[in-house]
Amino acid sequence: MSSQFNFKVENLSADSQIISFRGYLDETAQLPSYESLANLKSLVFNFDGSRIINSSGIKMWVQLMSQLALLKDLKIVFQNCHPLILDQINLIEGFLPKNAEVESLYVMLFCEKCEKEFDVCKKVSDIRPGLGMAIRDLKELDCENFPECRKFITLDMHPDKTLSFLRRTKETK
Ligand SMILES: [Zn+2]
Repeated sequence: MSSQFNFKVENLSADSQIISFRGYLDETAQLPSYESLANLKSLVFNFDGSRIINSSGIKMWVQLMSQLALLKDLKIVFQNCHPLILDQINLIEGFLPKNAEVESLYVMLFCEKCEKEFDVCKKVSDIRPGLGMAIRDLKELDCENFPECRKFITLDMHPDKTLSFLRRTKETK
C-alpha cells in the first residue's frame, strides 16, 4: 500500500515555489535539496498527498527544516496537513521551523447517526477560535441526511492538542 515518496515543484516566480508531496515519507524518500531552496523568499509545502511518515522520514525532514530556519528572508507555509503530519508539527521540535506557519489542515469529523468519518480541509484562520468551528461552518457532507445530521457530527480528533502548535507560532495578520 505504501507509495513511493515524491514531490512536484512549481515555480511561481524566481524566488517563490510550491512543493507538493506525495507518498510515504520514510528513509527512502528523496527530499528537495537545501541548495535548491536556499535562494527563495516564499515557499509553500503542500502535504495533501502525504499522510504517512515514519521516524527516519521525520529525522530527514527536521534536518532540512533546521537549515531552512536559518534563512532570514524565507517565509514558509504548510498547506493541507493531514492528522499524521499535524501530530509531528505538534510533537516534534523543529518539524515546523520558526519561519513557517500552518495555513490549512484537515479536521476529522464523525457523524454518529450515519457512523461515517469525514475530513474537511480548513484554513487555520477559520478555526483559530476552536476546532468546533469546522462543524459550525459545514455546508455539505457526504452523509445520509445532512444537514439534519449536523447535530450528530462530532470532532474525531483532540480539540486542544490538534491546535497546540498555535501556541508556539505568532498570530498571522
Ligand atoms: Zn450523517
